Amino acid sequence: MNHPVDYYEPVLTIGTVAKKIDVSVQTIRLYEQEGLVIPFKTDSGRRMYSMHDLDRLFCIRKMIAEDRMNLQGIKRILSFVPCWEFKGGLDKDCLNCPAYYEAEGPCWSLRNKGEKCILEDCRTCEVYRLDFHCDKIKKIIFGHERPQNETKDKNQTE
Ligand code: SF4
Repeated sequence: MNHPVDYYEPVLTIGTVAKKIDVSVQTIRLYEQEGLVIPFKTDSGRRMYSMHDLDRLFCIRKMIAEDRMNLQGIKRILSFVPCWEFKGGLDKDCLNCPAYYEAEGPCWSLRNKGEKCILEDCRTCEVYRLDFHCDKIKKIIFGHERPQNETKDKNQTE
């Protein structure tokens, strides 16, 4: 999906984000501690969020409120994203990276990341910037959507 450039610009305060998704500021901080979202931090340490972060947080709320998932389950789902495919493929460095062999959480939340990622700013990485919508979880993980004709066939038989 093409987004306007400012989709990734950190323009929302934590208070605004909390209000939009109807949770407390502490809850947003908890999601950060759990590695589900990476806020931009200003020089003074103030947390700021983009529209992409907001979409991510909406999806997290949906998974919790409607799908009855807990934070550990959401982290586990995110751990299945094959980040190495965005970092030049599965090489020796990736094979030794916890993002490849562990399922504790999204790659950016792990300690002892591989050499390719250790100096990267995960917030600006294309893996973190994947379109994060609840109806696209499989696309995020497997990289493809259901073909149009299959969707049509299914609709015709319903
Ligand atoms: S740079 Fe960060 S977000 Fe990107 S693949 Fe590496 S650990 Fe994951």
